[in-house]
Amino acid sequence: MNMHLREYQKDTLTDTRQAFKNGFKRPLVVLPCGAGKTVLFAYMADRSQRKGKTVWFLVHRRELLDQTIKTFEKFDIPLKTIHIGMVATYANHPEHYPKPDFIIFDEAHFSMAATWQKLIDRFPDAYIVGLTATPCRLDGRPLGKIYDTMIVGISTHELIQQGYLSKYRYFAPSVADLSQLKRKGSDFDAEQSSELLMQRAVYGDVIESYRKYADGLQTICYCSSIKHSQAMAEEFQKSGINAVHFDGNTPKAERSQIVQDFRDKKIQVLCNVDLISVGFDVPDCWCCILLRPTMSTALAIQQAGRALRPQPGKTAIILDHVGNYTRHGLPDDPHEWSLDSKLKPMQQYNSDGTLSVRQCPECYFTFPSGPSVCPNCGTEITKTREEIKNIKKIHLEEVKKNRRQKAAEAVKNKSIEECHNLSEIMAWCKQNGRKPGYGYYVAKARGFIHSA
Ligand SMILES: [Zn+2]
Repeated sequence: MNMHLREYQKDTLTDTRQAFKNGFKRPLVVLPCGAGKTVLFAYMADRSQRKGKTVWFLVHRRELLDQTIKTFEKFDIPLKTIHIGMVATYANHPEHYPKPDFIIFDEAHFSMAATWQKLIDRFPDAYIVGLTATPCRLDGRPLGKIYDTMIVGISTHELIQQGYLSKYRYFAPSVADLSQLKRKGSDFDAEQSSELLMQRAVYGDVIESYRKYADGLQTICYCSSIKHSQAMAEEFQKSGINAVHFDGNTPKAERSQIVQDFRDKKIQVLCNVDLISVGFDVPDCWCCILLRPTMSTALAIQQAGRALRPQPGKTAIILDHVGNYTRHGLPDDPHEWSLDSKLKPMQQYNSDGTLSVRQCPECYFTFPSGPSVCPNCGTEITKTREEIKNIKKIHLEEVKKNRRQKAAEAVKNKSIEECHNLSEIMAWCKQNGRKPGYGYYVAKARGFIHSA
């Protein structure tokens, strides 16, 4: 197959080459799931190969190895001086392979500093590129120790607009009170959350939501623990919906059968905990059910992202029962990634005091704030108590700011004796480089402040 790069892929390629020209040696390239990272860097590996360079294309999971090899085969890229393999294998025995000029790491968010250092020490002249959709580890830590610059390509939002990812509708009916959820390590306590979610009423609500919003759609259901996932699958089955649980211990043959049955629509719902680390070629799904509250934006993005693979006529449905949107926003919200600092927590409120993501109280449709009626059901959207409080506060601050400005105007080129009140005295001190303490002293002496 001929290799044809999309416009945004060409842009990313240009940016990567430019980074090398500018003296960087280890750029981290950020592209969302579905943007075709592997294809793009297979192309780049091929270009290097044609120049006689040796390229290592390394992946972190065995399942990705097969997929990567398939990509190279699909585009008839010969593997002459390109070596595709597992990170661990190459890092432990680099002497078994020809010295690389160029190393490409897929799923760079799994990068371990120690492995990296080993390879960098051994091949200080090699160029290295890391690829990822979420440039931080699952615990949120940045990757700046490993990479020296970051290249952020097209966004999820633009990919949806251009039709490379499917549109989606996001509903977030809450099914349990998770407000008391404790943290364990860098994320929520999985045991506690699965306990809260393993209740009869919760199962009922989850299944009812599935019937209401996504009935019959091929669905991946993310649970909090293996026990939770098994129980959820059982509850679906009791309601006549064919659901299956699987995890890392499910034998490979059985897993393949499950995937095949899912593709053939014999199975509707795949319940799992950690599909991402179980790591297999996830079949296309039209709906995601989120039953695993997480603090990890990377995890949240990867989970919901599974439903966004484009299909003709597809609008994915995301059912967030654990409020992940309140912590990470919607799947196509922008994120300010950084190599040096942890991802900043999402701003729950806009600068005007309104919610940045809003939920319809009637149908639970969840959307970027703005419209005054729910885009899904037309219910009028009223401001929440917190929003009204915010708006009042912002208004009050504006009034104060105006007062300060007026005072500053009033005392310009005047002496402190000419000030009429405390605000003017404070404005005068600011303009004349005097400390606020002096202003209070004068104000008190002149009777503008009465001590309590
Ligand atoms: Zn609505």
